[in-house]
Amino acid sequence: MTAARARPTDCPTGKRRYRDRIGAKYALAVLKESASWRRQETRAYHCRACNGWHLTSKP
Ligand SMILES: [Zn+2]
Repeated sequence: MTAARARPTDCPTGKRRYRDRIGAKYALAVLKESASWRRQETRAYHCRACNGWHLTSKP
């Protein structure tokens, strides 16, 4: 198998991974609309370890 892996958890940080900024921004918007959101994630950032995107609470 030579296909690129695309599993959401394929990052050393263990954080949930999003494939691109759009996906992360969308997930963040959905999170803020949900009742379970506790302001833990407020921003999307690019991760160099997995070349994906994560959400963070840090400014
Ligand atoms: Zn990552």
